[in-house]
Amino acid sequence: MNTSFESWLNAQIGDLKAQNLYKVPKILNSPAGGRVTMNGKEVVNLSSNNYLGLANHPKVRQAALDAIERWGVGAGAVRWIGGTMEVHQELEERLAKFKKTEAVLVFTGGFTANAGAIPAILTDRDVVISDELNHASIIDGVRLSPAKYKKSEGYVYPHKDMEALESILKNTQSFEKRVIITDGVFSMDGDIAPLPTIVDLAEQFNAVVYVDDAHSSGVLGKNGAGTTSHFDLYGRVDVQLGTLSKALGVMGGYIAGCAALKDWLINRGRPYLFSTGHPPVVAAALIAALDIMENDPEPMNRLWSNTRWWKSALAEAGFDTMGSETPITPVYVGDEGKAQLMERMLWDEGVYALSIVFPTVGRGKARIRTMPSAAHTEEDLAFALEAFKRVRDKLGA
Ligand SMILES: *Cc1c(COP(=O)(O)O)cnc(C)c1O
Repeated sequence: MNTSFESWLNAQIGDLKAQNLYKVPKILNSPAGGRVTMNGKEVVNLSSNNYLGLANHPKVRQAALDAIERWGVGAGAVRWIGGTMEVHQELEERLAKFKKTEAVLVFTGGFTANAGAIPAILTDRDVVISDELNHASIIDGVRLSPAKYKKSEGYVYPHKDMEALESILKNTQSFEKRVIITDGVFSMDGDIAPLPTIVDLAEQFNAVVYVDDAHSSGVLGKNGAGTTSHFDLYGRVDVQLGTLSKALGVMGGYIAGCAALKDWLINRGRPYLFSTGHPPVVAAALIAALDIMENDPEPMNRLWSNTRWWKSALAEAGFDTMGSETPITPVYVGDEGKAQLMERMLWDEGVYALSIVFPTVGRGKARIRTMPSAAHTEEDLAFALEAFKRVRDKLGA
């Protein structure tokens, strides 16, 4: 054991603790759901992305069991070397129909899809133009590319600022490709990207549009098909990323677009080329999840009725939900220490809702991030609301 390495690690961890940035995962003792057992305690869980309750849906579970009988548990190889089973192919065909695009390529995660697709479509003659609140997986994907992208060089626009985007587009005409990348729904604020304006500007300036729909998959658009569907921009968004790990309840990420995009990523998407494909059970469970999304409107209806109830109840009680428009509902606190204290007090009340503080969001913009879902009952949400009110009253704010 290299002792100086271990003391370096411990010093870094000590720094995180001193800055209140140290994370300890809580342990779920039950399946994902609206009300769960976590660290041995029963709580209403407001910090899950299981938007449609599909992570433990009986039909999805059954499809997974059947797939194990049919296919075993592993793909055995990287996809292009022999790890693509019929069930993987069927999932991609189903997703392409669902998205109304020519083709879809599945990666093992949404993070992996960004880390694979973004560098693959960029060269050193290109520039990436980003919203300042883009997700970490977009930022890492961009960093893996040889393109220009830096904020300090003027290629990052203030959150949803379309005038700033336009002026960057005016100033970058010498690049071979300009790729505008944005979250479809922003993961910490729950607001929606102004995609119609982004697409208009891209068409005007001949730029490529890349949308990360992780938090819109299963949430916005027809049957949850995402922001392109929500804004009826079919055929006008070049690259759409979706996740299969959040609303679809299992695991994975995909890129939807033209057939040539899929072809190119099969040949140049490094996580696809060098990492083993999903276990077949994952693909089969996802096909079952997609069946439910396409044929049963109930989970999405319940997600949205719970979302409307939760947002208006919070607003009526005087909480600031920061203009969020989707199930992601931040409850504004401001001070970091107070947000962390509030999280602990909510936990004591039987509500699990994580505080989000700097550097995930700006300094002094701490919040409790809540996500109602189809897995919550009215009683769960009413219980959580009372807890929020009691904690606020105790804190005297
Ligand atoms: C969660 C998330 C991802 C990563 O998706 P996984 O499937 O969990 O790896 C990518 N982008 C955004 C915006 C996300 O919120």
